[in-house]
Amino acid sequence: MIEVGSYVGGVWMAPGEGARDIHDAITGARIGRAGNAALDAGAMLEHGRRVGGPVLRAMGFKARAKMLKALALHLSGQKEALYELSYTTGGTAVDHMIDVDGGIGTLFVYASKGVKELPEDGPLLDGDVEFFGKAGSFGGRHICVPLQGVAVHINAFNFPVWGMLEKIAPCLLAGVPAIVKPATATAHVTEACVRMMLEAGVLPEGALQLVTGGLGDTLERLGPQDVVTFTGSAETALKLRGTPALLRNSVRFTAEQDSLNASILGPDAGPDSPEFDLFVKEVHREMTAKAGQKCTAIRRILVPEAQVDAVIEAVSARLAKTTVGDPREEGVRMGALVSAAQAADVLEKAAIIGSEAELVFGGMDGFAPLGERATGGAFVAPHLFRADPDSAQRVHDTEAFGPVSTVMGYRDMAHACEIAARGQGSLVASVITHDPAVAREAVMGLAPWHGRVYLNDRVSMKESTGHGAPMPHMVHGGPGRAGGGEELGGIRAVTHYMQRTAVQGSPEMLRAVSGVQVKGAPEVVSEGHPFRRKFGELEVGQVLQTASREITLEDIEHFAEFTGDTFYAHMNEEAAARNPFFPGRVAHGYLLLSFAAGLFVDPEEGPVLANTGLEGLAFMQPVVPGDSISVRLTVASKKRRTAEHGEVRWAVEITNQEGATVAEYELLTMVAG
Ligand code: NDP
Repeated sequence: MIEVGSYVGGVWMAPGEGARDIHDAITGARIGRAGNAALDAGAMLEHGRRVGGPVLRAMGFKARAKMLKALALHLSGQKEALYELSYTTGGTAVDHMIDVDGGIGTLFVYASKGVKELPEDGPLLDGDVEFFGKAGSFGGRHICVPLQGVAVHINAFNFPVWGMLEKIAPCLLAGVPAIVKPATATAHVTEACVRMMLEAGVLPEGALQLVTGGLGDTLERLGPQDVVTFTGSAETALKLRGTPALLRNSVRFTAEQDSLNASILGPDAGPDSPEFDLFVKEVHREMTAKAGQKCTAIRRILVPEAQVDAVIEAVSARLAKTTVGDPREEGVRMGALVSAAQAADVLEKAAIIGSEAELVFGGMDGFAPLGERATGGAFVAPHLFRADPDSAQRVHDTEAFGPVSTVMGYRDMAHACEIAARGQGSLVASVITHDPAVAREAVMGLAPWHGRVYLNDRVSMKESTGHGAPMPHMVHGGPGRAGGGEELGGIRAVTHYMQRTAVQGSPEMLRAVSGVQVKGAPEVVSEGHPFRRKFGELEVGQVLQTASREITLEDIEHFAEFTGDTFYAHMNEEAAARNPFFPGRVAHGYLLLSFAAGLFVDPEEGPVLANTGLEGLAFMQPVVPGDSISVRLTVASKKRRTAEHGEVRWAVEITNQEGATVAEYELLTMVAG
């Protein structure tokens, strides 16, 4: 018997009064219990808010990103134990990898993004400074700072590991402590994973708590700085959303719930095309991976009317070869649903769909899962239906959360998009087409109703990640029935745990708040050339004003000849004068950049190691022979990369003899020290 604990307030709490039973999905045997009515939700929340939150926030983005990486590495070394335990949830070895490796991969992605895309410390900046007056003495910018509460993550049974990790990765990276409440049916796997993460010794106390079984009155106690994220049924989401404390305190509530995802076979993809084959493979995989218990699984298969029979035949042929049974048995490709209750629910929903659709493959008649142990388990055979998309209704509003899908014929792409939209909002739609025009029309029709649109064809199929796989880089969530939430999506997801605040003030104030240079902020006075300063000695706002240099016609001709850029605007006076942008022959933009470097560079060996790039280049005014340019180089921002060096961004402004800006850009350098 597995005694599934809760980790609350820094201690493990064994199951007790009110504990819920956990069953083996393959045998049906009772294997554990979870939950304890003695949970002190108030103390748990305070522990997160008062103990975990301050430490996490003080760490800064980079240290938190490193913490995620350490967790990912630690879990990578313990995967086998998680796979082994996961067999009790009904899945196959491949299913366990989707859950476990998918979760660890998500941690790695957020760790990497945290280092690369987030500031070392200080607030996360959202957008540029905007000025409100002509003189540029008052402006504003948006910043994001971590919320000071806790995030309560309520997860579904189907991904006990990924479901937790995909939520805590952006949450902890933001600096907000997490309280994880897994679905009871698979809470033992989540609990094992939490124990491993705590053993890694990198999580500050209070950063991660686990509640198995009931949540008690946790939601009733949430306040304005807290967040709830939920994955599960629309019914539960609706109930929890309505918790008075959540409404009263405007607690953020992100839901990812039922979704009638569709996959569309393009009208160009005939039975002999690589796309047809690809489509059939994707549909089959989505019906059978995790026995169809994926929020992104394909529930509705939309194909050109003329292809309905061919698609049914091809999908059925693949399903016929899919052995269902005890995943430990040789040759088994699809396991059980998570519980007898889920199996009953899926069969009930399949019957509802069957009331207006024809079963064309599978069903429970004569079905027997493979394996001696499999007799008492939650096995459901694949069900492939065929329906008329216009007259049917239940197929568009009934989520049978198992290996159940319906083929429907569409007339044209507008019709296909209309059918997909009858799902009232879904997580993902896929379009398998090799025709870019079809892809464009489909995306424009599908996007308003979907959080993600997945296009695939012969070109991308080898590297494509799969209709059903949410990528940490991409938004996961969907409008309407799918919950209206957004999870993942790179750094976007981190901001879900942060407050976005508009900060207004003078350039100097905005620089002080943001840690980056703001145009018009006073110079930070320093002596000597900034290229002589080590990374740690440079200060944002330090300026180098260079001498000036005249640009002659000979310079332009020399540059043209030397580089081969003899474009008429530099070489032909009459042609250049006909160009509406130029008064006559002008200097090359790249000549200006080269001369600018000649003006600001300090040539001797020193802490500046390399010029790694240039961003935001704009040529604002032409430079003609006889003009003089000079450069103002300002330390715009700094970010340490290693103990030995860091990236320094310099705001470069090239002006002419009248003080007018002729070019602007940001120069990126690596600086030692
Ligand atoms: P539920 O909505 O019942 O449960 C989801 C999560 O909410 C679980 O952690 C559950 O905990 C928790 N929960 C339920 N009631 C409460 C409550 N009153 N207070 C706090 N937490 C609560 O979904 P199921 O897991 O039972 O699945 C039912 C159906 O939902 C599936 O058949 C499927 O149609 C859909 N579903 C959709 C998913 C998606 O990603 N789109 C994922 C999973 C399910 P506990 O397990 O302890 O009850």
